[in-house]
Amino acid sequence: MLHLISLNCRYTHSCLAQFCLRAELAHRLPELPVLLSQFTLNDPYYQTLLRISGQPTKAVLFSVYVWNHAYIRRLTADLARLRPELPVILGGPQAAAMGKLPPNCTVFIGEIEGAADEFFHDLRQGTLKPLYQAEPSRSFHSPYQQDDFQTFLKNRQVYYESSRGCPFACSYCLSSISKGVRHKPLELVKEELRGLIAARPLIIKFVDRTFNDKPERAIAIWRFMLDEGQGVRFHFEIAPDRFTEEMFSLLEQVPCDLFQFEIGIQSCNPATLAAVRRQMDVSQAEANIRRLAALDKIHIHADLILGLPCEDAASFRQSFNRIFRCRPHHLQLGLLKVLPGTEMQARAAEFGMLHCAEPPYEVLANQWLSHDELRALHEFCECAEAFHNNRFFPSLWAYLLQRGEEPSAFFYSLLEICRQRSFFQLAHTQALMNQMLAALAWQREDGPLLLELLRYDWLRCGHRFLPEELGGTPQAALRDRLRQTLPQEIDGLFSSRMRTEFLKQSSFAELSAEAMTVLGLEEQAGIAALLPEQTGGVLKHCRAVMLPDEEDAR
Ligand code: SF4
Repeated sequence: MLHLISLNCRYTHSCLAQFCLRAELAHRLPELPVLLSQFTLNDPYYQTLLRISGQPTKAVLFSVYVWNHAYIRRLTADLARLRPELPVILGGPQAAAMGKLPPNCTVFIGEIEGAADEFFHDLRQGTLKPLYQAEPSRSFHSPYQQDDFQTFLKNRQVYYESSRGCPFACSYCLSSISKGVRHKPLELVKEELRGLIAARPLIIKFVDRTFNDKPERAIAIWRFMLDEGQGVRFHFEIAPDRFTEEMFSLLEQVPCDLFQFEIGIQSCNPATLAAVRRQMDVSQAEANIRRLAALDKIHIHADLILGLPCEDAASFRQSFNRIFRCRPHHLQLGLLKVLPGTEMQARAAEFGMLHCAEPPYEVLANQWLSHDELRALHEFCECAEAFHNNRFFPSLWAYLLQRGEEPSAFFYSLLEICRQRSFFQLAHTQALMNQMLAALAWQREDGPLLLELLRYDWLRCGHRFLPEELGGTPQAALRDRLRQTLPQEIDGLFSSRMRTEFLKQSSFAELSAEAMTVLGLEEQAGIAALLPEQTGGVLKHCRAVMLPDEEDAR
């Protein structure tokens, strides 16, 4: 028996490579049974080791990534002590970077579908060599069996590849090493997806490095999902400058939450993009992200990388400002990782790159950012991510953009407050973030307006009281007042029989004329009722309805 082991970051993740390996073994060594085990990095080490050592296996096979590298290295060292005769095979993108390994280990580089017969022969005979290198494969089989969805993949994210390889060659990325893109035939993709959709997983994540590299093909797959995939969520990695009008007209029709897009921008600085060989029309990308976000049907996740060549603090701030202004729902500000085998690693000295010695090899400094500058920017990124990547403050962000304020300047002021009030040492709750923003509001001329917007967003998130630091009339007092002044019934909102229920179930935001205008509600001061029912759209808030003017109502 062969023991195929994955070590995932979280229980809900699964490892596509493990299933691809099983499919290839079934094809090339059908007589050998396989056992699949899925562990996570949080599993207690000793128990994991015992669960592996206790199996009567002919060989153990791991998929090595930058995130599980250290855990697997520890396992291989202890397995070699316990069972020195047991072959351990290490594949995956980081297998070649494992360093010195015990003599029972074999490193397999490349795609299992491209392995020569010699590898399978040696595996069968138990005569494995220390190293095998595969050719890129021409085709790749469907990795899943239908019963996987009730067993190995139950309650997990399902990964799927309709193409392998990337048309680009960004110098920091492992996908740039294999050349060319191979696409599965479209009809096969549809057939495989039908099987996946039938199992009703929560999400199907496409691992295609650039899903929309061929617009016609992307449209055909999306159209298929629109027809047959409703009720499942699909995740894609998208090149933001490769959208056609036909793609947009199709995306306008998709129901909310059917798709989510992950969009790598990495930097808006042309010198940086050139230094990392990343081809992108930034202006086109910005326009497309803005357009996609405005549809408010597809969760948009945009990435920037901190620590790239030619990106100093000022240019990183510019990149941040530009992408923030496009209004993605989630902004990921990740650190550059100088991965072994990439061009970035080969040119590390040229760029003055200092990075961590162990995986995931995060950048510590470079020619454009001293370590102190990088540390300060990293804290800025933590602050911006914490406050931005949730559904708590949409009116605040919209207001900053309406008044043309520089987003990074706003977050630097906020960072100062967060530092003074130990924000980074505390749990980042919505209440704590409101405390920080309220403290910032008190330092600004437009503070009262900011507080109004914070109160509105707080109530829109479904809270039925106002925290002290946000000020405003308490909800109980506002309800009492409305009990006196509201008409007995309002068409489309409540009947006289349901009036008490309406007052009990809704929250109420008192808004000035200025706040009303910012929110695009009305042009005069008034009260908005926040109903228990949610709006459509990606972020899901309580639906807001303007109440009639109190004077008119009397
Ligand atoms: S970063 Fe993305 S676009 Fe660039 S090579 Fe890697 S997968 Fe391709």
